[in-house]
Amino acid sequence: MSIQDDLIVRNGRFAETFDKPNMPALPGLRTVLLACADARVDPAHVLGLELGEVIVIRNTGGRVTRSVIEEVATLSVLSNILTEGREQGFNIILMQHTQCGAQRLANPELQATLKDNLGIDVTDYAITDQARDLMVDVGRLAAAREVPDAVTVSAMLYDVATGSAEEIAPMQSLGNLRAAARETDVLQAG
Ligand SMILES: [Zn+2]
Repeated sequence: MSIQDDLIVRNGRFAETFDKPNMPALPGLRTVLLACADARVDPAHVLGLELGEVIVIRNTGGRVTRSVIEEVATLSVLSNILTEGREQGFNIILMQHTQCGAQRLANPELQATLKDNLGIDVTDYAITDQARDLMVDVGRLAAAREVPDAVTVSAMLYDVATGSAEEIAPMQSLGNLRAAARETDVLQAG
């Protein structure tokens, strides 16, 4: 039996009791969660997500990259259309984890090898310090003008050794973060 055969059997058990044929496309918690692709940190399991509650985007490290910004901006346009403009904002939660494979990508030699041999630039995915890198990613979202002010962002760190998640950044609107950044710029310029 192949792995796919096994998964289709598992799906059969899911389908037997499936009773939600008319779920709305908008996620129930109005939340997009960005997490690492690591199999140990599956958000449905570790955060107890129910079907239809959260849109989950996963990549190496769970980092805010250019393609993540484009996906989030597209989702905000779709959300606007689906709610006929009634809902401008939603939540973005960033979740990184301990013992992340993306920490290896911080190695300059590996970065050079990937760039020279495969033409792949992984510097946006690299992780050196999760708490600091999460704040960098909050800043990347705040700097992304195509994501609306009403969107909120927060960040958490999941520990693969204990199964516990802790808050790194509380929920704040991008509008507030942008206003605070402008204030800092003015202070620095003055
Ligand atoms: Zn990871």
